[in-house]
Amino acid sequence: MFNIILFGPPGSGKGTQSEKLIQAYGLKHLSTGDLLRSEIARQTPLGLEAKSIMDRGQLVPDEVVVGMISSALDNHPQARGFLFDGFPRTVAQSEALDKLLRLKNTEIGVVLALEVGEEELVNRLLNRGLTSGRSDDTNESVIRARITEYRNKTSVVAEHYDKSGKVVKVPGEGTVDEIFRSLCSEIDRRLS
Ligand code: ADP
Repeated sequence: MFNIILFGPPGSGKGTQSEKLIQAYGLKHLSTGDLLRSEIARQTPLGLEAKSIMDRGQLVPDEVVVGMISSALDNHPQARGFLFDGFPRTVAQSEALDKLLRLKNTEIGVVLALEVGEEELVNRLLNRGLTSGRSDDTNESVIRARITEYRNKTSVVAEHYDKSGKVVKVPGEGTVDEIFRSLCSEIDRRLS
């Protein structure tokens, strides 16, 4: 099993690159943002709780997302590997993930960290908001709040994995295909 964390701030291209990577490597895509939006669409109690937090640009509680990831791992026992997108977003989430993977006799193979400047992030998210139907993409102050949450709570997750030498920084500005090729070459180097 080869498991990847695609890491980076909101708007860094994780969703776009995830779609290409899961096709290329046959991985199961686990996006906590997508899982939460599906709960919201189905109007589950969890979705109703998460929606107001997400609309403020804040992180939903660790136990909520860890619970979703734990079930998703259990639901895909035959997976060749997982691509985590938008998770883990706090150190507590990364510790919980390490533990869940250890129970399945596997671990994170690599953390691919997409790097994009803040103004570019805001522009991309505002642009996405024109068509995505995502309420958290239409308001600049919510976008800035998400980037602040990333800086305060999520960027330290990279340090957690850096201790075991698993983090690779990848420039996230350029064409989608250029960035995809950079990500693939980092993965291929670790698979061979
Ligand atoms: P983006 O990376 O563009 O912000 P996501 O779809 O990954 O978009 O996340 C949207 C929102 O969902 C976040 O702002 C946050 O409120 C919530 N969320 C997603 N993943 C997590 C997580 N791992 N922990 C806490 N909250 C999360």
